[in-house]
Amino acid sequence: MWKQRYGRIGRSVALTVGVVLTVGVVGGVALAQETSHRMPVESGIFRPSELVEIIRLDPTIRLDIRYATANNFVGRPVYDEARAFLQRPAAEALVQAHRWLKRQGYGIVVFDGYRPWRVTKLFWDVTPPDKRDYVADPAKGSLHNRGCAVDVSLYDLRTGEIVTMPSEYDEMSERAHADYAGGTAEQRRLRDLLRTAMERFGFTVHRYEWWHFDYKDWRLYRVQDIPFTEIPAPVGGASSASPRP
Ligand SMILES: [Zn+2]
Repeated sequence: MWKQRYGRIGRSVALTVGVVLTVGVVGGVALAQETSHRMPVESGIFRPSELVEIIRLDPTIRLDIRYATANNFVGRPVYDEARAFLQRPAAEALVQAHRWLKRQGYGIVVFDGYRPWRVTKLFWDVTPPDKRDYVADPAKGSLHNRGCAVDVSLYDLRTGEIVTMPSEYDEMSERAHADYAGGTAEQRRLRDLLRTAMERFGFTVHRYEWWHFDYKDWRLYRVQDIPFTEIPAPVGGASSASPRP
């Protein structure tokens, strides 16, 4: 239904991408100029947000924040800081997955974590309607906006290199599907190893994106639009409530 409602708007937006993309970075993230969506209004009881920077919990988790570079599907930076945050329980689960993977010879590399809502809106606006299965509808918000989704891959502990998966990150094709049967056996093995590790610690994979994982408690957190620069610093360092093996 949304395709019929927003399809025409989407096409006109796609034609004005060049204009939208010249707006620049404001307050940490680029602002889209189209206003066909607003942030979802959510009622109910939510946990207070506690976004933590992933590498503060484990500095051996690597970052490759593509959205802070031009190497992403938008073609320009949409973050002005190469940082990644998650709600604390999700961040701690990711650290556990990373430590489990270490025993298999791999580590986690993070492409993206918490994402301000305005960036989800921008992604929608620049994506052609026939590719919108691969981006979140800003009318609902993304689980990234709740700090409960993370985009990850693996790096090889011996070489330090990010491994080759059946598709590139953010590739909008069937090669990105979690059950894609093509590619090499080694690529599929690594994709499935990543999924096994993440599922062990409370994440589920997105069926169209092998790199995207949702944390089980996402319903407990609101959609947010706070830029990275305004995320509160942790009080007194690491939480004493969490084990630090
Ligand atoms: Zn994602």
